[in-house]
Amino acid sequence: ATPNALLHGTVVKSTGSWYVVRGTETGQLYRCRLRGKFKIKGLKVSNPLAVGDHVEFTVEAQGEGAAVISTIVPRRNYIIRRSVHKTGHSHIVAANLDQALLVVTLVSPATSFGFIDRFLVTAEAYHVPVALLFNKTDLYDADGFEYQAEIAGMYASLGYPSRTCAATTGEGVAEIDQLLDGKVSLLAGHSGVGKSTLINALVPDLDLKTAEISEFSDKGVHTTTFAEMLEVRPGTFIIDTPGIKELGLVDMPPAELAGYFPEMRALLNQCRYHNCQHTHEPGCVVREAVDQGRIALPRYDSYLSMLAGEDNRH
Ligand code: GDP
Ligand code: ZN
Repeated sequence: ATPNALLHGTVVKSTGSWYVVRGTETGQLYRCRLRGKFKIKGLKVSNPLAVGDHVEFTVEAQGEGAAVISTIVPRRNYIIRRSVHKTGHSHIVAANLDQALLVVTLVSPATSFGFIDRFLVTAEAYHVPVALLFNKTDLYDADGFEYQAEIAGMYASLGYPSRTCAATTGEGVAEIDQLLDGKVSLLAGHSGVGKSTLINALVPDLDLKTAEISEFSDKGVHTTTFAEMLEVRPGTFIIDTPGIKELGLVDMPPAELAGYFPEMRALLNQCRYHNCQHTHEPGCVVREAVDQGRIALPRYDSYLSMLAGEDNRH
């Protein structure tokens, strides 16, 4: 590109001090630095820029091939992970997502409903649609598909579609590829559910692509916990989040929690007390719906344990 021309691009990898940006006009990767201070109002974050961010940057004439990011385009949405350190800073995992795909398994190992529901609540809070991918269907016994259909039906009724697959045999992978088409999708899941195997099946030349991107990252910097955007084909991207087991909710007031359960959201103004937490209060329509089977018990259990601040991450 002409030196000093303003280019547009998407951050595909971040190591903290360097960013790898894919140029929209050129399709090439650039190693970029960020100039200036960028803040999000009311939020302490450790990283100003995240994978998926749209940016404007300039390639400087003779600056060791480095480019400089001058503008971050306002984000459509973003997902944050609560700080694991005591700094109080949170980490932006990814920005501008079309959807999040949660890989789950009913066997070997069984993903817990608590984990699934935490993920769904977080995605609701960040306005990111979710689809569930049931992997390892090749391991199902005779009742397996029936059980899975029941679970999938329950989530579908709440607005969360699903697909089934066996990443190791390739079964169902084409349908997942269709689900990705033309979108930016975050792929998440507990370790062991087959996320890496699935990414391998979905992304052609994966090793080449990740090698290409690492070339632009800082040498010697441990980058495995950073998200990375992989190109399935032009216009279709997967954001891999290695090492990130779950998305953390940042300071959600208990009163807001029920609003992120679609089946409870519809009932919220009907409880006797306006500040009802739907645990034991008289005249609670949420509890009534649970008793009548209109709200699934595992979902209500997930609500209660999240309300109690329990860490049901398994
Ligand atoms: P990750 O931790 O989610 O990235 O999981 P991996 O992709 O590393 O897979 C964990 C284990 O599950 C590996 O031994 C895979 O071979 C196995 N696995 C992944 N997908 C399937 C599948 O569809 N069926 C079966 N039977 N095993 C699978
Ligand atoms: Zn209530």
